[in-house]
Amino acid sequence: MVCQTTFYRDTWVEINLDHISYNIKNIKKYIGNEVEIFAVVKANGYGHGAEEVAREALESGASYLAVAFLDEALALRSKGILAPILVLGVCRPEDVKMAAEHHITLTVFQAEWLEEAIKHLPSDAKLAIHLKLDTGMGRLGIRSKEIVNQLELTAKEDSRIHLEGVYTHFATADELDLTHFEQQLDRFHEMISWLEETPEIIHSSNSAAALRFPKVHLNAVRTGISMYGLTPSQEIESILPFQLKPALSLHTKLVHVKKIQKGEKLSYGATYEAEEDEWIGTLPIGYADGWIRKLQGQEVLIGEQRVPIVGRICMDQCLVKLPAEFSMGTIVTLIGEQGEEHISADEIAEKLDTINYEIVCMIAGRVPRVYKKNGKVTRVINNLI
Ligand SMILES: *Cc1c(COP(=O)(O)O)cnc(C)c1O
Repeated sequence: MVCQTTFYRDTWVEINLDHISYNIKNIKKYIGNEVEIFAVVKANGYGHGAEEVAREALESGASYLAVAFLDEALALRSKGILAPILVLGVCRPEDVKMAAEHHITLTVFQAEWLEEAIKHLPSDAKLAIHLKLDTGMGRLGIRSKEIVNQLELTAKEDSRIHLEGVYTHFATADELDLTHFEQQLDRFHEMISWLEETPEIIHSSNSAAALRFPKVHLNAVRTGISMYGLTPSQEIESILPFQLKPALSLHTKLVHVKKIQKGEKLSYGATYEAEEDEWIGTLPIGYADGWIRKLQGQEVLIGEQRVPIVGRICMDQCLVKLPAEFSMGTIVTLIGEQGEEHISADEIAEKLDTINYEIVCMIAGRVPRVYKKNGKVTRVINNLI
């Protein structure tokens, strides 16, 4: 893959790196200097671009990175990122050599996995691991004392293995009802007490827990969504300790403008019929960019006004109804601000009956990412050419 410095298409994502920095600095201020930040940059940094976000987060106070699987960690290494990286998901035991070679920390929760992994580890290798405890998320993790003890022993008996951390993940930290959260926390403390020696890094908090409960900061927090400036849930938006600044915005330009007559029909299925003579704009963004067909009817911003998407959204294009004639090339904002108007990822999420996490992740890789710092473009990533 070549990272070109330009693109030839009038649709792009803008990432405001100052906002990533602002969010990380405020998280750091809130959790205190003793607590480390793991910047969670899985899924290409929640669609923002893992490399650029990782660099900005590390400069702003994060000290560790976290990704979902080994390939994502290796991708960061191939870009020259040297900070420690934790793989949160499962890795194959035969791939530990690769992980060790690139100083990538793995999550471990099965006794037989570690036994098998050790067989694949060269004699001079070093592998850092974190034990994952399942305290009530029910996804990955150790559930019994025997396995905790067995894994701790296996790690201790092999000098190549460094048991660096232990962690869990909360299922409901973003909800107002704290019953399940408190049960998980109690269970976590109980399970940690089964360890003979406490590892250096004990961590449990995602963004929601980190921003709400200082008692679960422990040695480190794993922040994803809040670093990107989005609230972990609508429920807790009003109780966040500081305001988050969204880093991502999505833009396109009018590439065609025309007046249609009353009764004329638009797009596939000819489902939209003009009720009067109308100005219609064509936008070069469609479902293959992640702007899916269910977004028909969603508003976009043009000239600081909200205008609706009309007719079916196509693979690469869609249509908007304009209040007047606008010139070709006028910027259209699908997520972000124009003057006083604002369309948030939360608004799109609500329209699609999902969460803001999914909205930023679904913007396709074919949409170029433009990075800005202090109002200036610092980099453009175009995955296509
Ligand atoms: C994705 C993930 C996080 C980050 O969660 P946010 O809600 O985005 O802060 C933290 N920990 C684990 C295990 C995760 O999978």
